[in-house]
Amino acid sequence: MVLGLLLARAGVQVTVLEKHPDFLRDFRGDTVHPSTLTLLDELGLGERFAALPQRRMQQLRAALDGGTVTIADFTRLPGRHKYISLVPQWDFLDLLADAAAAEPTFTLIRNAEVTGLLRAGGKVTGVRWTDRVSGERHELAAALTVGCDGRRSAVRASSGLRSRSFGVPMDVWWFRLPRLADDPEGGFGRFSTGHFAVMIDRGDYWQCAYLIRKGSDAVLRAAGIDTLRRRFARLVPLVADRVDTLESFDQVQLLDVRLDRLRRWSGDGLLLIGDAAHAMSPVGGVGINLAVADAVAAARLLGPPLRAAGSVTPAELRRVQTRRLWPTAVTQAVQRLAHKVILGRALAFDPDAGTTPSTGLPRPARLMERFPALRGIPARLVGIGPLPEHAPSWARRPEAPVEEPAADTSQT
Ligand SMILES: Cc1cc2nc3c(=O)[nH]c(=O)nc-3n(C[C@H](O)[C@H](O)[C@H](O)COP(=O)(O)OP(=O)(O)OC[C@H]3O[C@@H](n4cnc5c(N)ncnc54)[C@H](O)[C@@H]3O)c2cc1C
Repeated sequence: MVLGLLLARAGVQVTVLEKHPDFLRDFRGDTVHPSTLTLLDELGLGERFAALPQRRMQQLRAALDGGTVTIADFTRLPGRHKYISLVPQWDFLDLLADAAAAEPTFTLIRNAEVTGLLRAGGKVTGVRWTDRVSGERHELAAALTVGCDGRRSAVRASSGLRSRSFGVPMDVWWFRLPRLADDPEGGFGRFSTGHFAVMIDRGDYWQCAYLIRKGSDAVLRAAGIDTLRRRFARLVPLVADRVDTLESFDQVQLLDVRLDRLRRWSGDGLLLIGDAAHAMSPVGGVGINLAVADAVAAARLLGPPLRAAGSVTPAELRRVQTRRLWPTAVTQAVQRLAHKVILGRALAFDPDAGTTPSTGLPRPARLMERFPALRGIPARLVGIGPLPEHAPSWARRPEAPVEEPAADTSQT
């Protein structure tokens, strides 16, 4: 949607094919980071975004057995936005779709599932897609096809491009638990021997992420929902009185965590960005930010030649990867380190084995407590990322007036 909006603002004819009828779907992350908030300001969408119901998180806190520690402090960041906004992803995408619809060269087709690529000689010349309502099959010719269809990308699968996969130690279970009015706001992580949880404040409910050992989903489900209730109540006592609302595993979704990266992100007439080019681990909650940054870089590099010549060369497409590879690789390297040093080791323990919980804080946590300025480093990595991208001048617009006031904006 970000790439579609920007290219349309360059005057390029863009068609976005979206598989689903709307953007309402399972939870896929809600975080909109300071660098993306700055981008929205540049695009003239900052006020409209601020009017969406949202929670604002100024710090990331982790509750360890030995105490609670602040691991990132976004108030230490430069710029206007010193927080992460938690906004349902469908609201964010609707906002972008509305802004794009105002551009005469933009078309969004919903219920349109891409099934394969069209080729002429060695060049990709468009896509095949199926209307999921009528079942009709279509072809769409394009000077440039961009695969931005996520971690199970059909475009990647048909492209023949090879990827490098990195092992991950965990999968994630997602489920909801009720949130009461006097619960803390924002979100927090909870870490203990053998299990971890991340709690995300969604107003009247908590979106809970519970980390399990990679590949253990079937065995744990067979152990029964009561085991999950018991373990979760022990891990996060705040919600112990509500775990009974989990009646069956139908309420628990598995995220098969992947971490991989294409060796080449483009071919003649084809580019992949976002998770389609590099599936991200949920560690740090940075996948949305990176996908947005890829889109902005791609638009800035490709918009002018597409507008001027109506096509782009393979060399121009390669420049997108050249620009975005290192921030992606650095972020994935940090995620791999966290997998190896923290998550992999801790998940090797059985959470029911009765190990004595640690009473002290680990050394990095103690350092953060002693030197609060250190909390600015993870805040920068998570909130801004290694290479934030800015809107090109031709895509910038003044702020448009907002019609509706904010309904539910709170600060944590
Ligand atoms: C459960 C979960 C929680 C996450 N939490 C966070 C978080 O808190 N913060 C964060 O930054 N990241 C989070 N992530 C990662 C984040 O969602 C991704 O990194 C990010 O959304 C990638 O953006 P994208 O545009 O590349 O792909 P996506 O957001 O996956 O978008 C792909 C789009 O393509 C559409 N599509 C797919 N296949 C087709 C097809 N064949 N034809 C047409 N359309 C198609 C999909 O419907 C979707 O709209 C989470 C991921 C998951 C799965």
